[in-house]
Amino acid sequence: MKIKTDILIVGTGVAGLYCALNLLPEREILLITKATAEESDSFLAQGGICMLRDDADYEPYFEDTMRAGHYENRKESVEIMIRASQETIQDLVGYGVDFERNPDGSLKFTKEGAHSAPRICFHEDITGKEISSKLLAEARRRKNIKIIENMKMVDIITSGNRCIGIAAESGEGEMTEIAAKYTVLATGGIGGLYHNSTNFPHLTADSLAIAMKHKIELENIDYVQIHPTTLYSPRKGRRFLISESVRGEGAILLNAALERFTDELQPRDVVSKALWKQMYEDDKPYVWLSMENIPKEDILTHFPNIYRHCLEEGYDVTKECIPVVPAQHYFMGGIHVDKNSRTSMDNLYAAGETACNGVHGKNRLASNSLLESLVFAKRAAKDIDSGFDECEAIAPDVDIESYRGCDKDYVKTVRREIERWELTRE
Ligand SMILES: Cc1cc2nc3c(=O)[nH]c(=O)nc-3n(C[C@H](O)[C@H](O)[C@H](O)COP(=O)(O)OP(=O)(O)OC[C@H]3O[C@@H](n4cnc5c(N)ncnc54)[C@H](O)[C@@H]3O)c2cc1C
Repeated sequence: MKIKTDILIVGTGVAGLYCALNLLPEREILLITKATAEESDSFLAQGGICMLRDDADYEPYFEDTMRAGHYENRKESVEIMIRASQETIQDLVGYGVDFERNPDGSLKFTKEGAHSAPRICFHEDITGKEISSKLLAEARRRKNIKIIENMKMVDIITSGNRCIGIAAESGEGEMTEIAAKYTVLATGGIGGLYHNSTNFPHLTADSLAIAMKHKIELENIDYVQIHPTTLYSPRKGRRFLISESVRGEGAILLNAALERFTDELQPRDVVSKALWKQMYEDDKPYVWLSMENIPKEDILTHFPNIYRHCLEEGYDVTKECIPVVPAQHYFMGGIHVDKNSRTSMDNLYAAGETACNGVHGKNRLASNSLLESLVFAKRAAKDIDSGFDECEAIAPDVDIESYRGCDKDYVKTVRREIERWELTRE
């Protein structure tokens, strides 16, 4: 099968959807996803999305982001993100996103680890679902946007150093050539490479493998964030996240003797290390998390999803501790992009978790990733629009069947490359 479009976006998480919605309505846009449109990590985000509250918070917010990132962040990217945050939240409200509000109608803010002030907008503990479902509904309404589900990108198609489309495989196994003037990779994180992860298992870093194959520049691909608190289960499969905002609201970590052993609001990498040390000392595969300091009413209104899920697993968090364990959660590194989300290959952009624009440095500050994904996806859209009229389409000249099975070693290749970066880092 052959498809032709102006702009192809691979991935229907917040990065892909927001990029599509910010392109001019006269563009023909195709979004594809490997799974259903709802099966993205964007739908799983719990805690919230950061926003600069006022000018006085600029310096503290900037400093919190830099400190969490061990000062390895690209300062320009951090500035762009923070400065665009208010406009982004307004945009989301315009799409119908319902953030929690105070009785006077102003936005209500919560706090998470390593934030020096409350600056996180939220919707119960399902902020990601609230944002993504509203963006998806809008994308489905737009006549110029088409979404194809269960269509997996297996490679890009190139002409010299220019991307001219992709090779994809449909759910029925049909190989498909998709020609596009511009391609945006918005394929999310890499949790599918790990046994213990909060991510959807189908997020297997396909864009990274493809980038490696085509010598597209990568950045910090060994910077992988571990979340300190996921619900412990002896079963295999996706780990359920116990959002950091639970600790932000007062939950504490306890060892086997039910004593506190660390400051719960340090950056994630520091808290995760404290948990591993404690698990080793206790000789247990988990430590305990207690919500005894959070009023029951607050647990039920702010964290209803966490409350429900834990109850299904046999724990009533209003009455007892729950076992928690660190798990792979987020990918700070990725395909290197500039401040307009351009990769090192012409006409190829990357946005969201698969891209590295340097915002997060070595470690992400909680609730910065939805914002970063949205801000830099919009910048990709604006950049594409600005060059669109001068760009001539190039028709691919390939045997699409020759791409069948070319992705079979991708997982192994990426795992090995991440290890190589870890081992060779100074
Ligand atoms: C449990 C959990 C809680 C989180 N909580 C927060 C939070 O509170 N605040 C915050 O800021 N961040 C949070 N995050 C992180 C945040 O959700 C993600 O970083 C963000 O949603 C990434 O968006 P994305 O669009 O880049 O990727 P995703 O939303 O993961 O979307 C990736 C898309 O790419 C598609 N795809 C992948 N490979 C292919 C392929 N080969 N072909 C076709 N399609 C493909 C997928 O099917 C999917 O549609 C959380 C993450 C998790 C897992």
